[in-house]
Parts: sequence; C-alpha cells; structure tokens
Amino acid sequence: MASRPRIAIAGMQHETNTFAPFGATYDDFVRADGWPEMTRGDAIIDVFTPLAIPIGGFIRAARAECDFVPLVWAAAEPCSYVTDDAFDRISAMICDGIAAAGHLDAVYLDLHGAMVVESHEDGEGELMRRVRAVVGPDLPFVVSLDMHANITEGMVANSDALAVYRTYPHIDMLETGERAYSLLRQRMANGRAFHKALRKPPFLIPLYTQCTDFEPCKSLYAGLPALERGGVANIDIGIGFPPADIAECGPAVVAYGTDAAAVDAAADKVLAAINAAESQFSSPLLTPAEATSYAMRHGRPGEPIVIADLQDNPGAGGTSDTVGLLRAMVEGGVREGALGLLWDPQTAALAHEAGVGAELELAIGGRYGYDAEPFRARVRVEALSDGHFTCHGAILGDLTVSLGKMARLRILDDGSDVQVAVCSVRYQCLDQGLLRAVGIEPKDQAIVALKSSVHFRADFDSIAKEIILVESPGANFCRGETVTYKNLRSGVRLGPCGPAN
Ligand SMILES: [Zn+2]
Repeated sequence: MASRPRIAIAGMQHETNTFAPFGATYDDFVRADGWPEMTRGDAIIDVFTPLAIPIGGFIRAARAECDFVPLVWAAAEPCSYVTDDAFDRISAMICDGIAAAGHLDAVYLDLHGAMVVESHEDGEGELMRRVRAVVGPDLPFVVSLDMHANITEGMVANSDALAVYRTYPHIDMLETGERAYSLLRQRMANGRAFHKALRKPPFLIPLYTQCTDFEPCKSLYAGLPALERGGVANIDIGIGFPPADIAECGPAVVAYGTDAAAVDAAADKVLAAINAAESQFSSPLLTPAEATSYAMRHGRPGEPIVIADLQDNPGAGGTSDTVGLLRAMVEGGVREGALGLLWDPQTAALAHEAGVGAELELAIGGRYGYDAEPFRARVRVEALSDGHFTCHGAILGDLTVSLGKMARLRILDDGSDVQVAVCSVRYQCLDQGLLRAVGIEPKDQAIVALKSSVHFRADFDSIAKEIILVESPGANFCRGETVTYKNLRSGVRLGPCGPAN
C-alpha cells in the first residue's frame, strides 16, 4: 500500500423502476431534491463528509491516511429508465476525471446497483466497465451499493469488491461506506485481487417483505458478520429490486476474500439460507377499504394507525400521486387522518396562489393512469411551505431537502376530516419532518397514511400503535405476477413460492 494512497471518488445514484411511467433526465441528476444537487470537485468533500451516506462514511474512514480526487456525485429520485444522455455525461465526468487525475492508487464509487439506462440494462455494470477500461485490470476498485441492488456478473467482474447495505430501512449507509474503505485497504495491502463468489436465488423478493426488522431478513443479515473470517473478507446480500425488467433482476449473494474455497463455501451457505426462507417472505396486504375500516376502529390521536401505501412509494419509482387510498379514507369517513406525501406540483402551485385560508375546488393527483381520474374535492389551504427544510429521522440524519412548493390541504367533506400534504418534488415519506413541514404532527393524528414501503418505519415505528400494509394501485407493484416481464431470465419465480417467469 502506497504511503498515502491517492483515491478517485465519485457517485451516481439511481434506482430504476422500468415499469414506471417516466424516466430520469440529466437535469434530474443536476437539481437538488431529497438528495443534494449534483456536486463536482473539491466541494464533494465539504458537502458529503458530514452526511450519513456511503461516500461520507468512505471519506471519514479514509481521510486520515489517503488523499482524494473527488470527481462528481449526482442522484435522481427513483423512476423509469435513465436517459443515455444523463448516463453518458455523468459517466464521462467520472472516466475523464480518472483519466486526467495523474497517478492513482485506487477508485471508489458510491452507486445504487439497480440503475437501468435506455441502452444499458445493467447501468452500474456498464459504468464499472468504462472505469475499468480507463484504469486497467489491476487498479484496486471498490464500490458501495444499496441493499436494493440487482447485482450482476458485470458489476462483480469489473470491480474488486462490492459493499452492500445491511439494513432496510437503510440506517447503515455510513457504515457501508466505511466497510468499502476497509475492503479497499485490504485489497491495496494484499497487492492482488480477492477471490469472488456470486450466487443468485431463483425468485424475486418484494420490497415490503425485505425489512430487516423482521424475519427472514433479520436473521439472514444478522448472520453475515460471523461468516467474515478465515479468508472471507466480506459477504453481502443484495436483496434485489423487483420492478426492474432486466435479465439479472433479483437477489444475490456476493462474497470476497483471500481463500477461494472459504469464499465459495460462505456464499453457498447464505444462498442456501435464502432459499430455505423462501416461504417466509410474506406479509398480509389489505385493500384500501379494508385498511381504512381497520384503522378507523383502532387508531386515535396519540396512538395512530399507520397505513403504508406500498405500491405508490416514490422511493421505488411510484408516481406518489395515486389517490386510491385517499379516496377510501374520505369515502370511508376517516376523521383526524393525514396522508403524505402526495406529489402534485399543479395543486401545490394553486394552493400557493390562493393562500392560507382559501377554499378552492381541485383535481388532486391521479395523473398517470393508475386511477380512473384525479380526486376532485373542495379543499381549504391550511398551511404552505417552500419545501426547503432539514429532517432529523434515523435515515436522513440532519439532511436538508428541497421539495419545492408544499401545502397542507384539508378535504372539505361533511362525513370526513382528512388532510393531505402535497409536494412539488417527488419524495418518499420516510421522516416525520416531511409532514411537520406543513404543520401535521403525525402522533396527533388517528390515522397516518404514508407513500412508502419500509423506510417510513425508521421514524414512524415509535409513534405507531400499529402499521398496516395496503395494496392500492401504483408503479411499485407488490406481486410480480400482476405485470409482464420481457427481459428477466427464464425460470425465475416472480415472487416467493410464486409462478416462474
Ligand atoms: Zn434501497
């Protein structure tokens, strides 16, 4: 290992739901949303070192003994395909930056692992191939990935090691960056590549059953560190991101180390454990009417029932504007209920024009074909926000978000009392601060409906009397057999114990 290694660092983050109605352009990676705006050069150190995300963890772990060549970090909210334009431009910033950096001892990238580009179904694998083409086959090169990575042979072949989150909700992003540095350090010290093993279970695992607070993921992930000994440096599970119609979609086990037989044996052991747990990946799903009825009977202010609107989770590519659950809440007569975040820039703009206290007729959400029509209602504007504020939950950890114009709307209906938090930039409702920004105190509600699959648990578990899961229309489908895969390799079951592709 060089006395003070010089490491190029960069990040590009996208989780691609190929079934969602719109994709990500270059501008989506440039502007700030739930994540910081595109950041280049030395500013990366200033912006990301304090943040509890992988590149922040990597910098904090490595800075005492390494020098950095920071290139670019950019992220866009999950949606459908990344344009070739966006991918090629950001890839070029990384590859050209590496080529122009002079002597380098290593490369680290902070990637997601489920990016699908118009011309490359394995986005990260293609990016890593381009980096490899610049640095050659021998330069140490490690990558951190989101737990929802669809890990591919291309990613494994073109990098020295992958370090993957081990929690969902993702509260170990920082630690994953630190672990990526630990692996890179070992790789540099060894002076030769790790042995690698990649294994893929034959079934897709839906997001809502992937939470590491519960079995089977709780034990599967808790068991990983004990396997990292005796020549096994790291073993991870990418649990997969099902709504990506690519050949290599699905969970994977990936292991590295200096003892090939031990690496293979560890990977086989975890693969066997996942396969043995197949039938345990399940949770009951309710219809919107069932969920609303249950929540009205059991929720009260101070002890709210939290309803997760799983299929419209924008953090998995949902439009975050479907109104099936909202309609059920209003028609069902919910009182002291709140729903968020509903993405509707037009509605937010109209509310800001009208001002606090105004009453107006609106057509809310429902613009992408998942609903027969928007939710038409008379509302009162209760509060407004510029959408720029800091959250403090376990996932975001003091991150400042930029969600554009926001509004709290009260649906004026004789039989119900439901408020909606509307935003102008799509973002998953995974932090109580996102509702407090428009004056909704979640604990004071009887029913809180959230457009999120699992991440909301990190901040809402503590106030929820109970959490229930609803299957209402949206792009983040819960059951694989409800859509048609065209590119997924044959033989893969579309859900645990489900029909094969
Ligand atoms: Zn994830």
